[in-house]
Amino acid sequence: MSATELIDTHGRVHRDLRISVTDRCNFRCTYCMPEEGMDWLARSDILTFEETGRIARIFVERYGVDSIRLTGGEPTVRAHLPVLVRLLSGLRVGGDGPLVDLAMTTNGATLRNSAQDLVDAGLRRINVSLDSLRADRFERLTRRDELARVLDGIAAAKEAGLGPVKVNVVLIGGVNDDEVLDFARFGRENGVVVRFIEFMPLDADAGWQQAQVVPQAEIVRRISEAFPVEPVIRGSEPAQRFRYLDLPEGDPGGIVGVIPSVTEPFCEACDRVRLTAEGQLRNCLFALDEFDLRGPMRSGATDDDLAEVIQRAVTAKWAGHAIGRVQFIRPGKSMSQIGG
Ligand code: SAM
Repeated sequence: MSATELIDTHGRVHRDLRISVTDRCNFRCTYCMPEEGMDWLARSDILTFEETGRIARIFVERYGVDSIRLTGGEPTVRAHLPVLVRLLSGLRVGGDGPLVDLAMTTNGATLRNSAQDLVDAGLRRINVSLDSLRADRFERLTRRDELARVLDGIAAAKEAGLGPVKVNVVLIGGVNDDEVLDFARFGRENGVVVRFIEFMPLDADAGWQQAQVVPQAEIVRRISEAFPVEPVIRGSEPAQRFRYLDLPEGDPGGIVGVIPSVTEPFCEACDRVRLTAEGQLRNCLFALDEFDLRGPMRSGATDDDLAEVIQRAVTAKWAGHAIGRVQFIRPGKSMSQIGG
């Protein structure tokens, strides 16, 4: 079987599918969720593993998507997650090509218990979100006293063979931006790739302000003062990567990244589509429209019907988001509801 490329009207070929497996989370990061009062999806509204697997199969076998990332909410709170991982990790690009590259983004708190099972089921790569290395600040930010468990989770992921682990740090001006160098050191010493993410207007309480964004240029300036870096040529990934000049090539801690979604958006190279936990397709994090796959699927749609919805969603993708410009409209959903 050979795949048809999933191309939008701007010529971008889509090869990356983000799947949110739940809107629930065991943390309550202040910038992502309120402490109480989230409107959770009903269990019956969330796609079953079979439904998720069916949609993923269409993406991978028909449309040549070669990379899938599981996210949420917090993906590890979904019961029996390794069952889904096994189902997805067996998918082959175009039906008979290479196995899909299956990754996950997690807060890392339960990886000591789950990393090996996930690897055994076919998970290949992992990103752990961690916004502070200081226990008191970590607790204030996440509303959970779990820093030690997250650090141990990162170690467990490495032991299970998920290296190089990537650690994602959302930098918020006046909140944790004094930890840039601590994180740079942490990455270098622990052999993990630290990636700083610019704060985006997808916070649950809509309090985002441009002034809280720590721009890529500033992050790189601060790192280079202590550890000189040079840029690495950018591929299709959103992170702009930099190499520490004093570490040998190939050292897992020798790369540091920035995801400059606000100050230097990479929309022209975007190859992603997102499936929310309740089966809605989004062609951009900041999309205002969604394309329903669950409804048709539950009322007897064929694979051809679903493939047509997928193509329609990608065709409707706009050239880029417009954060910081007058025409920008905040989406009605926050990051945990979309699947970050
Ligand atoms: N629970 C998992 C985790 O912690 O990685 C996956 C879901 S979480 C929503 C995915 C990522 O989105 C995390 O790295 C989180 O820090 C990031 N995130 C959430 N809200 C954000 C915002 N307003 N701007 C930038 N990143 C955000």
